[in-house]
Amino acid sequence: MSTTDTLRAHDDAATDPGAEPVTASATTPRPYENYVYAYPHKTAYRPLPDRPALRDLWAGERLDALSLYLHIPFCEVRCGFCNLFTRIGAPDELTTRYLDALDRQATAVREALDGAAARAGAATVRFATAAFGGGTPTFLDAAELTRLCDIAERRMGVRLTDVPLSVETSPATATADRLAVLADRGATRVSIGVQSFDDAEARAAVRPQRRADVEAALGRIREARIPVLNIDLIYGIDGQTEHTWRRSLDAALAWRPEELYLYPLYVRPLTGLGRLGAHGDDAWDDQRLRLYRQGRDHLLAQGYEQVSMRMFRRADAPPQGADDYACQTDGMIGLGCGARSYTSTLHYSLDYAVDMREIRRIIDTYTTTEDFSRAEVGRRVDGDEARRRHLLQSLLQARGMEVADYRGRFGTTPAEDFPAELARFAALGWLAEDADPGLLRLSPEGLAYSDALGPALFSPAVRAAMAAYAWK
Ligand code: SF4
Repeated sequence: MSTTDTLRAHDDAATDPGAEPVTASATTPRPYENYVYAYPHKTAYRPLPDRPALRDLWAGERLDALSLYLHIPFCEVRCGFCNLFTRIGAPDELTTRYLDALDRQATAVREALDGAAARAGAATVRFATAAFGGGTPTFLDAAELTRLCDIAERRMGVRLTDVPLSVETSPATATADRLAVLADRGATRVSIGVQSFDDAEARAAVRPQRRADVEAALGRIREARIPVLNIDLIYGIDGQTEHTWRRSLDAALAWRPEELYLYPLYVRPLTGLGRLGAHGDDAWDDQRLRLYRQGRDHLLAQGYEQVSMRMFRRADAPPQGADDYACQTDGMIGLGCGARSYTSTLHYSLDYAVDMREIRRIIDTYTTTEDFSRAEVGRRVDGDEARRRHLLQSLLQARGMEVADYRGRFGTTPAEDFPAELARFAALGWLAEDADPGLLRLSPEGLAYSDALGPALFSPAVRAAMAAYAWK
């Protein structure tokens, strides 16, 4: 995969759901509690007893600027750090059966959207962005990718050449013929998970790859002339030093990528590294913080702007639609096994798992499903949760949050709604003191602690649901 994605409906990177409850205390918390790119996390979802019909869920929603996300849950290997919804390989023409199911789901969802629009007397359904994520979408061969694009266009009605289209890939699957299909169909951004240019580090992260193959894949991506290249790198790998980290950063920079994501390594339940045992001491936190600061400073010095803790964009790169964490707008349609969808009041998906056997079972069930007209698993988002979501997703962006936007949406200010939390963040030095009035913005230290700050804004109910989630 590439772990990036502005439309990241797929990423299931929960770690410790029992984050510290908020107090006004200014004791510095541990920096790596939980990666919050979407709230509430999928581990807070539960089966929906009423299985609401999609046409009812989408009635009354804004339908003229939807985001489409198609999830492909196949990879060639299972990386040691990965807890995304994906399986290794696809025997017995599983990709064909998966695309058949995706086609049925797309047909059902589009019918539901059209029904919702007709009931509201609204204009036609329109999509503003599209993304193929995973897993590894380019696990599909060129003909299958063509079919995937056809499903997006013919079933969902997205004109892929008219909207930003982001696609994730991996070094082994970024072949010239697949990239040609994607470029031809309008891909504007390719995101490749490299993680490390050091072969020994790649092995330590249980992601066996050779640097020569990575470089060759990057060459093919550049030859395909897709406007934006994103490279994902990981810091905090066993044995990684300032020296080897700098080498990976420079190897990535040599390709002048329009975007770079720097991810702290997490070790999560049921993953390859998680099964290997102990992580989580102070020395590891210190290593990750040190490498984060080194990476941030190096990219800023090389002409990149910081968009969020993880995301950096080359200052002269073409604009690419929504930014990291910027999924403020509801109206996400996720299709495929691991995808989620967001209306303004309900986030929903299919079943979720990390364990390989469970994932295979869920994919097998998906491929035989005929009725995709209902939401099966999800979580209601009430007014309080919507405020939390807006605040944490805006605040975690380097540019900060316009208080007027928040007030315009909710009629209150963050200071009125979250006084204890904001007082604590200020006491910790996480809020920029030089921000314009009317702007709530993190300090550099606040950005460095994004993965502690975000979880501190989780509601007690979501925190409890995440803690009660039985990993499978
Ligand atoms: S390539 Fe690795 S990190 Fe990416 S989705 Fe597959 S297993 Fe996970």
